[in-house]
Amino acid sequence: MTGLQSSRLSLGGGGDFRGLGGLDAGFKLLLELSGVDGSGTVEELFVVGVGSPVITRDSEWVSCRQSQEQEEKAPTICTDTKQTTASPSGSSLPVMDRIATKMSDKFCRYPSTNSSVKDIDVAVAAAREAFRTTWGKNVTGIERGRLLNKLADLMERDAQVLGELECLNNGKPLKIARDFDVGDSVACLRYYAGWADKIVGQSIEIDSKTKFAFTKHDPIGVCAQIIPWNYPINMWAWKVAPALACGCTIVMKPSEFTPLTALKLSELIVEAGFPPGVINTIPSLGSVGGAALSSHKDVDKIAFTGSTVTGRKIMAAAAMSNLKKVSLELGGKSPHLVFESADLDQAANWVALGILYNTGQDCTAGSRVYVQDTIYDKFLQILIGKAKELVIGDGFDEKSGGGPVVSKVQYDKVWSYIESGKQEGAKLALGGVKRSGKGYFVDPTIFTDITPEMKIVKEEIFGPVLSVGKFSTEEEAIRLANDTTYGLGAGLHSSDANQCMRVSNALEAGTVWVNQYNLLYNNVPFGGKKQSGIGRELGSHALEEYTSVKAIQWNFGEKLDWPL
Ligand code: NAP
Ligand code: MG
Repeated sequence: MTGLQSSRLSLGGGGDFRGLGGLDAGFKLLLELSGVDGSGTVEELFVVGVGSPVITRDSEWVSCRQSQEQEEKAPTICTDTKQTTASPSGSSLPVMDRIATKMSDKFCRYPSTNSSVKDIDVAVAAAREAFRTTWGKNVTGIERGRLLNKLADLMERDAQVLGELECLNNGKPLKIARDFDVGDSVACLRYYAGWADKIVGQSIEIDSKTKFAFTKHDPIGVCAQIIPWNYPINMWAWKVAPALACGCTIVMKPSEFTPLTALKLSELIVEAGFPPGVINTIPSLGSVGGAALSSHKDVDKIAFTGSTVTGRKIMAAAAMSNLKKVSLELGGKSPHLVFESADLDQAANWVALGILYNTGQDCTAGSRVYVQDTIYDKFLQILIGKAKELVIGDGFDEKSGGGPVVSKVQYDKVWSYIESGKQEGAKLALGGVKRSGKGYFVDPTIFTDITPEMKIVKEEIFGPVLSVGKFSTEEEAIRLANDTTYGLGAGLHSSDANQCMRVSNALEAGTVWVNQYNLLYNNVPFGGKKQSGIGRELGSHALEEYTSVKAIQWNFGEKLDWPL
């Protein structure tokens, strides 16, 4: 059996810490899983030998626990229960109650989130040492590509486990986590593995008798990578794959809410054979580890995905410390335009996907939809029907197409926006009523009768809450769409090719989807305009984020007369 269907799942705790001062095999991870009833009762708890902790889960809420017989056959690697654990620096850690995303805030607790500033220093030093000795310019592109491909193979082998961990991590449906998030992440590693030996410079003629110049794209060095909770494994892959392909080393800080897949991947990194210190995983709080990385004097680059507020802090810290290179993927308030010539049924499918995929916790969520007045009523009815069809439920239930929002904090935030929409006079066309029972579920919510100054129209909600407005002309549609400080994504639906070209040209967004929405490909660049970010991920453009160009100017004939 694979994954959590076996009652014990090995979960690597920051494998690359084996290279760090005095630690041979990583730090311990301690997980407590509590029952689906939300009681917070610890069902089982395992702490395993350093470097390979184990989590388990209770049969009732997943209904796929292995039989007694299978359990007896499973290797018993638990060495202890209910002991406190230690961070790499040996400090004792408070237990965190944060991860709990599926049904209750107490679903899963773990203590190793709280790595300290001292731990960050240790991890940065390990990354620097690896960059100087075993990685960086000391290893060929062919070898970097080979290791990335090896890691991709291991992720593919463990796709079920990774998918289940991702479902535990943030509540998204297992089938989506496994088939899309893990699948796309594997493909991302393979895409950049292909680039690793194809990073080439220019040869520039200056004077063919005496001089020429050439450029080299040097790896930038130690990269701190701070990732969010909405797509933990994808964001990990988007950050790790291009950085490693270019020869950089990494200190990875997953979100405090979702460290599980990053920790499991640490184990696979060791198995793939990466030298110690190349990738260091530090589960830590943003205000502690994230802030320490942003202001660290020996970090050469910081790559961040998350909120605009935090992006600003990171940029300021980078400026005030060592002017490290910064790339930011931030929020959005992405518009979606539906013109009268569009295939309305298809447009409604894409609009529904745009706001409901990942329960709206998506930086490109198409959270504002403007519909041409001639088809407005008809389109709205089709859209409401589509939204109602989505099953939102337990991520381990095969029927679920969407899960709960990630945490109590996010649940409260989304509901505060729904309340503000009601108070500011928008009309509810769907949803807006809380479910009774456990779980941070928010059902699809559609507001109409919106005005530009409403909070639900201006601010990123990060939940399944859609604002639907009307326009009559193409000019008005473009003006409404661009009326935002963000510029991440935009969508348009029309069967008029000239209109598609005109409008896609006018929309101020890093990605414009025409007659589709929210699809990303590893070979197509992604990033924001305006306050949605700086830099690009994916495609060949991401390589520029992890390299710095060196010009080597070569004289083979010119003599210098002196004095001038
Ligand atoms: P966030 O604060 O931006 O979190 C993203 C990452 O940054 C996490 O790893 C976080 O660590 C870290 N972080 C937090 N404070 C930091 C600091 N001072 N310096 C360096 N790193 C820091 O986002 P959030 O608070 O989880 O969510 C708030 C809102 O941001 C959401 O409601 C949503 O609107 C938006 N958001 C956007 C994206 C996106 O993809 N664009 C992703 C997530 C959230 P901790 O987890 O420990 O805080
Ligand atoms: Mg935060």
